[in-house]
Amino acid sequence: MRIVKYPHPMLSYESKPLRIIDQTIRDIVAEMFELMYASNGVGLAANQVDLPYQLIVVNTSGQREKKEHEYVFINPVLLKLKGVEEGEEGCLSYPGLRLIVPRAREVKFQAVNLNGELNTYFWKGFEARIIQHETDHLFGRSFYERATASIGDMELALAQMKDEYAQRVSSGEEPTPEQFAENVKKWESERS
Ligand code: ZN
Repeated sequence: MRIVKYPHPMLSYESKPLRIIDQTIRDIVAEMFELMYASNGVGLAANQVDLPYQLIVVNTSGQREKKEHEYVFINPVLLKLKGVEEGEEGCLSYPGLRLIVPRAREVKFQAVNLNGELNTYFWKGFEARIIQHETDHLFGRSFYERATASIGDMELALAQMKDEYAQRVSSGEEPTPEQFAENVKKWESERS
């Protein structure tokens, strides 16, 4: 498992709801947490690890040892957004990019957990920002599409990432559009 970088096509892919929660999904979740901690993140969406599933892992503290702050959100739905607040965000799929993004200050949302239970959450501030950022990923949206300002030159950073990505496609490290379509079909037929 690896974190894909912009402009990998999975980052702009709209994932389908996850229908089957089995041992494979539990293993994927454990691996996603590992990867998130290793990268010093507070949230990671399945799209970012090249899987077209509506699945997110979060640790609002960002600290591996604080398990009480760990959440797994499957098929999340944002029910109610309240207020607007600008704040700085980064993203593991856009290394080095820091952007100012307006987000709702309070969010009411529902999601299924790893035990298949549907829960309702009320999150505010930084935590509300995390769930909005990660849920966007599941629907193929990235933070730069909502940004109102950037720290550094965003257009230049994105153009550089595009160039690097194109080089990795030609060297076979990243999938061609045809290979990507094949992969998505396979993953979706298994669990969504
Ligand atoms: Zn992100």
